Amino acid sequence: MVNGGPSASGVQWVTTKQKVGSAMAKVKWILCPVCEGDGKTVNPDIDSNGLTAEDFREDPDFAENYWSGMYDITCRGCNGHRVVTHERIEELRQHADDRELAAREDGCWDGGVRDWRYG
Ligand SMILES: [Zn+2]
Repeated sequence: MVNGGPSASGVQWVTTKQKVGSAMAKVKWILCPVCEGDGKTVNPDIDSNGLTAEDFREDPDFAENYWSGMYDITCRGCNGHRVVTHERIEELRQHADDRELAAREDGCWDGGVRDWRYG
């Protein structure tokens, strides 16, 4: 008996693809909590430690750039897709924990390391 053949493998391929399609349909998409659906965020290197009104007052150019979106990057939480899966949220939480642990071990802890914008 001859196994496969072009038409047989073609059918197999279609069947597999349909299975993948229906599995994907079951995924629940959640609005990305990192960018709140914007698909982009301000680069966390700029403000993950928190900016104050003072920072903006002392540097008006910086403030202007900041608000105009010059420091925006594609959201690392959702890669710009604006939505994430539950698994991705768990992953982001885990990464934040990992960064916090590493920062504490290094003794250079600051609040910014838990920022989910780091992905
Ligand atoms: Zn996002």
